[in-house]
Amino acid sequence: MNKAYDILKEYFGYSSFRTGQEKMIQHVLNGHNCLAIMPTGGGKSLCYQVPGLLLEGTALIISPLISLMKDQVDALLSNGVSACYINSSLTVREQERCLEEMEAGVYKFVYVAPERFESMEFIDTIQNMPLSLIAFDEAHCISQWGHDFRPSYRSIVPNLKLLHHLPTTMALTATATDDVITDILDLLHISEEAVVNTGFSRDNLHFNLVKGVDKYDFLLETIGSRKTESGIIYAPTRKTTDQVYEFLRKKNFPVTKYHGGMSEKDRKNAQLAFIKDESPIMVATNAFGMGIDKSNVRYVIHYGMPMNIESYYQEAGRAGRDGEPSDCYLLVSAQDIQIQKFLIEQSIQSEEKKRQEYDKLQQMTHYCHTNRCLARFILDYFGDSEGPDNCGRCSNCLQTSEKEDMTKETQMILSCVKRMGERFGASLTAKVLKGSKNKKVLEFDFDSLSTYGLLSQYSEKEIMNLIQYLVADGYLLVQDPKFPTLKLSSAAYQVLKGETTVMVQLFKEKKRVETDFH
Ligand code: ADP
Repeated sequence: MNKAYDILKEYFGYSSFRTGQEKMIQHVLNGHNCLAIMPTGGGKSLCYQVPGLLLEGTALIISPLISLMKDQVDALLSNGVSACYINSSLTVREQERCLEEMEAGVYKFVYVAPERFESMEFIDTIQNMPLSLIAFDEAHCISQWGHDFRPSYRSIVPNLKLLHHLPTTMALTATATDDVITDILDLLHISEEAVVNTGFSRDNLHFNLVKGVDKYDFLLETIGSRKTESGIIYAPTRKTTDQVYEFLRKKNFPVTKYHGGMSEKDRKNAQLAFIKDESPIMVATNAFGMGIDKSNVRYVIHYGMPMNIESYYQEAGRAGRDGEPSDCYLLVSAQDIQIQKFLIEQSIQSEEKKRQEYDKLQQMTHYCHTNRCLARFILDYFGDSEGPDNCGRCSNCLQTSEKEDMTKETQMILSCVKRMGERFGASLTAKVLKGSKNKKVLEFDFDSLSTYGLLSQYSEKEIMNLIQYLVADGYLLVQDPKFPTLKLSSAAYQVLKGETTVMVQLFKEKKRVETDFH
């Protein structure tokens, strides 16, 4: 390993490895296929760059991100390492030249897009040359359980088998649920012992849920005082991106925008202006950011709820890559879930895949309504049990107002769900508890239930909020996210029996149910 330290110092100017890097390098040097799960900014690149420099031959790095390839190659070149990339941004002539030079052994690192492996010419070329290793960057893209599955990534596997000498294979990702990890291990023949998991925790990020505010007011207030700092505002659609961008531009914020509806040239310019801090504020759809290594992003604001927690963590995680404290805000509003459902319905994918997307959306909704520590919620989602129960930094941990005992209200809601036959959603349940004369309520005779109108002193919205909180924290279950009907969980029965109290922070106005409920 001494040599690895020499390389670290000589080429990268660092004197120590970060957590996990050394283990990964050791695995490669021992010839073991391996997987690194490290947070964004954790230093995954060095895991293959150091052994790539130590071993004979050329390292092939497979990456789905064209913009990232160029950045990485530029960085290597400036450190005096020979590297190139081959992807669709090059002309056919340029690609051919790179291939020739690659075959002649000119490069220590070659970055390639997954599609390259569909070409037999490419397979033949690498067949004839010594390879030090093959690294799958953004390895979660290989799994159909991942939120960003790329079929071209998966189709590499059978083509790799054509190689007479398969070098050590590495996989690297910052986002992987258990299903995805299992898939990666299976596909790339990696043993469990060769998984280096440093956890997903990003201790410099402060997660905040923002509810019940005017979103434009929030933007003005939050970024008005930090105009020179760099930040990203993610909007759920191109249209909202344009609107938010215009709003901020008119208020003289140094802002730029990025979405798939813009020309390639405009997108490139916007990205450059952002990276060079000429326009330090970026308003964008989720098309922006994969592979952007901008270390000084101080905040990420989600103007609406993303589709799943993987995307949320990846996007929010673009803040604070330099390790400095940074803020992640998620502005929650009721229509977000409708937008995301619409996007899922509209997408061209199988029913099975849509179902998975709905399940993930459900988890995302839970995040927006939980009272638990937000950082903990995310880590639990990824199955990372390390670390404390409360981060002490997120908006839920910092919520200073007293929690209220909402056990009685909860019992009423649970009982109402039960009496409605566990066949209806939150909206109708809230109407029944409110005592609404809604057509559907009357049609099903729910006005004759003993729970009808029991929470009439609350607004329907407040009742909905409480129901959503109960879902988020597991008292109520939603079995089919597409038709979200409520069902009682075992925890619910403990509340009904009076064995558990339910403390909630959701209700702003102090209203208590005075009458006893049986
Ligand atoms: P990731 O791909 O995991 O998001 P990168 O490989 O881009 O992260 O690394 C993030 C930053 O951390 C880069 O600027 C990189 O130079 C720096 N870095 C990586 N390893 C080390 C190290 N051992 N010591 C200091 N800085 C490091």
